[in-house]
Amino acid sequence: MSFKLVILGRPNVGKSTLFNRLTRSRRALVHDTPGLTRDRIEGRADFMDLDLDLVDTAGLEVGLEGPLSERLVRLGLAALERADAALFLVDARAGITAMDEEIADLLRRQTRPIVLVANKCEGRAAEADALDAWRLGLGEPLMLSGEHGIGLDALAERLQALMAAKEGASVEPVGSDGAPGIDEEPEMIRLAIVGRPNAGKSSLINRLLGEERQLTGPEPGLTRDSVGNRWHWRGRAIELVDTAGLRRKARIETTPERLSASVAVRAIREAHVVLLMLDATQALEKQDFTIANLALDEGRALVVGINKWDLVEDGKELLAEIRFRLKHRMSQVPDVPFLTFSVLQGRGLAKLMPTIVETFERWSTRISTGRLNRWLVQALSENPPPMAQNRRIKMRYATQVASRPPTIAIFANKPADDIPASYMRYLTKSFAAHFALEGVLVRIVVRHGDNPYHEG
Ligand code: GDP
Ligand code: GDP
Repeated sequence: MSFKLVILGRPNVGKSTLFNRLTRSRRALVHDTPGLTRDRIEGRADFMDLDLDLVDTAGLEVGLEGPLSERLVRLGLAALERADAALFLVDARAGITAMDEEIADLLRRQTRPIVLVANKCEGRAAEADALDAWRLGLGEPLMLSGEHGIGLDALAERLQALMAAKEGASVEPVGSDGAPGIDEEPEMIRLAIVGRPNAGKSSLINRLLGEERQLTGPEPGLTRDSVGNRWHWRGRAIELVDTAGLRRKARIETTPERLSASVAVRAIREAHVVLLMLDATQALEKQDFTIANLALDEGRALVVGINKWDLVEDGKELLAEIRFRLKHRMSQVPDVPFLTFSVLQGRGLAKLMPTIVETFERWSTRISTGRLNRWLVQALSENPPPMAQNRRIKMRYATQVASRPPTIAIFANKPADDIPASYMRYLTKSFAAHFALEGVLVRIVVRHGDNPYHEG
């Protein structure tokens, strides 16, 4: 199934350049667009294995009547009606213009997914303006340079997610619980279950997928293979990262330890949420923390599951010990969620999926610039920043620059290196507590420079 993507934006933002890069100039003119006085330009793109039908609107406004912004808006609407999604380009070098805002207004009022692209983002100079694009209210601007081919993998990732959502929506059987609700379908979670051999990973997977089989009934053909590694939990699709497949790919590495470590690394990279499974009867080893910290370093949401709790005699003591070790060995996220259970007896598992989904949601959090800056003002007043080289550090403005993990930028009058680590820890802690993000890694980056929204 191909995916139709239209490229929108005011003249000169780089639409054609991007179109040419994605199609490698295999463009085709078509002549069948009612409502447009000029032909639209279409091309097929085989972009990072994504099958796209691209529509470039560059120059099409020329034949239309009325003020330019109005023509662009009409053009955009007509093109969008026939498309699955749009790339909306702005020029990060020129900054956000009134015309960008008019187009954004239109785009916000329709239902097709929009990927906001801050183009011409090669080099650092454009970054502040790229951040400024947040104010268009179309989510996170993707920093890209169509001319220099920068940011294309991030673009591919966003498109892949949109395509998966479309596919999911159209092959979804009419709700297994009777609800059609395609629009409300929450995003699929990709879950990797990693851990040392014998921790109980396969047993857990069998149980999770087994419940799916029970739910869907014993229809012929609905075996584990055809269901794949997916199941639904309270209406949400969960896809298990296929570690068996990864193991086959990785089998050149011989020792079981190296094999399982390399499979874990690959699985972590493919996942949203990583469930690290530990065996309660085995002491926590360096390897366990290495995997846990790797998951966090890779920006994944992490949940630790301690299995075989049925074999534990003094649960209270062990729990205290595990809590202490997690806290001290995983300083990035001292309060990473962990649970204890017994897959064998099925005890303690009721909390597993709710914890995974909740962690995923925290990890995906988006916070409006308004709420973020209200928090910043409060955090700064409760504990004012220290001095650096006889000048007080001033922090003026915060904006979320990424989610997954939640990442905010704070604009300050000093470079990041001048801000004491202890103060950054304070801010990080305060931020996580204020927005209920405990247990997930959050990142705060300091940008030295003026508030991009500063008047005049
Ligand atoms: P369109 O009118 O939106 O189709 O814009 P074009 O693709 O014709 O590009 C307008 C101008 O911006 C051209 O001079 C391009 O070379 C330039 N341009 C396009 N992409 C980039 C980019 O990523 N970085 C920079 N610096 N310039 C770009
Ligand atoms: P994997 O190597 O991580 O996939 O681990 P398996 O799922 O193959 O389990 C390894 C062994 O641990 C098997 O003999 C399981 O029956 C056993 N096991 C799994 N979960 C539990 C549990 O909760 N309690 C106990 N006592 N044994 C378990």
